[in-house]
Amino acid sequence: MGNCAIVGINWGDEGKGRMVDLLTEKYDIVVRYQGGGNAGHTVVNEYGKFALHLLPSGIFRKNVINVLGNGVALDPENLLAEIETIRAKGVGIDERNLKISERASVLLPWHRELDALEEARLADKKYGSTRQGIAPFYSDKYQKKTVLAGELFYPEELERHLAELLEWKNLIIQRVYGAEPFTAEQLREWLDRFAYRIKPFITDTGKLLSKAQANGKNILFEAQLGSLRDLDFGIAPYTTSSNTTAAYAPVGSGCPSVKIDEIIGVVKAYSTCVGEGPFTCEWFGEEAEKLREAGGEYGAKTGRPRRVGPIDIVATRYGVKVQAATCIALTKLDVLSYMDRIPVCTHYTLHGEQIDEFPFPAALPDAKPVTEYLPGWKSDISGCRKWEELPKEARDYVEYVEARIGCRVGYVSVGPERGSIIIR
Ligand code: GDP
Repeated sequence: MGNCAIVGINWGDEGKGRMVDLLTEKYDIVVRYQGGGNAGHTVVNEYGKFALHLLPSGIFRKNVINVLGNGVALDPENLLAEIETIRAKGVGIDERNLKISERASVLLPWHRELDALEEARLADKKYGSTRQGIAPFYSDKYQKKTVLAGELFYPEELERHLAELLEWKNLIIQRVYGAEPFTAEQLREWLDRFAYRIKPFITDTGKLLSKAQANGKNILFEAQLGSLRDLDFGIAPYTTSSNTTAAYAPVGSGCPSVKIDEIIGVVKAYSTCVGEGPFTCEWFGEEAEKLREAGGEYGAKTGRPRRVGPIDIVATRYGVKVQAATCIALTKLDVLSYMDRIPVCTHYTLHGEQIDEFPFPAALPDAKPVTEYLPGWKSDISGCRKWEELPKEARDYVEYVEARIGCRVGYVSVGPERGSIIIR
């Protein structure tokens, strides 16, 4: 079988959580390798409906080891809250099925505060932060001004390190933003209430993964957000602060030599986008409202209404390339069942010229969508479990998308439940 990465092809919220939840059955280890608690994977299974933020989606499977790699933004406060919520539904979480990399950098109490201060300063020029402290966290990581999870085992050294960081950070909080400084007492309280409590989970996950690899175990890498939010390849500056691409998995998981055999790119049957930034295929008004309602498109973390539109072939083809996807999971096809005809954004026009290539970020706001329509199927497909059971028009739509984006569609999802899937 081998190793697999499940990644988003578009702006995020493609349904990666449901794909990971479905496929974890076959894997021994599930690893989150980037991002933090700033997005949510929605999973519906026998335990209920969950919005996972930081925990890997393999947490619901017995015998699966879940790893938070060195590439994640480790927020002890949010993580503990998430663990409690999920435990309350009867899911066992302990140091046997959850492992945190000792090399993961820790999101500190001031990161969330700095996010809020910066968004307030930007006023109406915001970049759509979820205010989880992710951008300040990654900036500090790259400035080497945060701490590693493993430092929790060296309390004296850690407290000295944090005191240094506190002094530096307060200069910024007070002098740049004119806000209240953090105190040593606040930090100590945070350490006792949150940080030290995650110690049982912290270990050398690099060693664990290398050993697993040597023993022929199968590893699943789970990404957050999608290609268009990737720090290097996305719609700058409206990206996230980490690499959402499969290529980052070996680094962010702590297993640089790992070979990824399959990259499943998750694409929604229409487009959605949360927050700011150019979204070329966007719909407005009544038809947008109808699609948003049909798809239940409200953010898993924030509850914000998502921006919606038809599938965007130009952006999706680019996303497939950036992820080097080997297979596509097309989700939420059932949501389109109400439509008489199925819209597809096939091209863009830029300064009067038709283009196929996804534009450079600075040119993107000038791009206009070209929309074509395919026949709808107008029937409930949520009970279909085999390719042949889908109406011809639905199959034609899937095949059309597949041909246009240049990657095989191996999975078609027709509902949020684990079993609502067609495997081709
Ligand atoms: P993720 O971050 O990529 O996991 O995306 P979300 O958490 O936003 O998941 C997408 C939403 O769609 C969740 O509420 C899922 O339960 C739901 N969902 C996933 N696949 C399907 C599907 O095929 N049909 C329907 N109707 N809902 C789906």
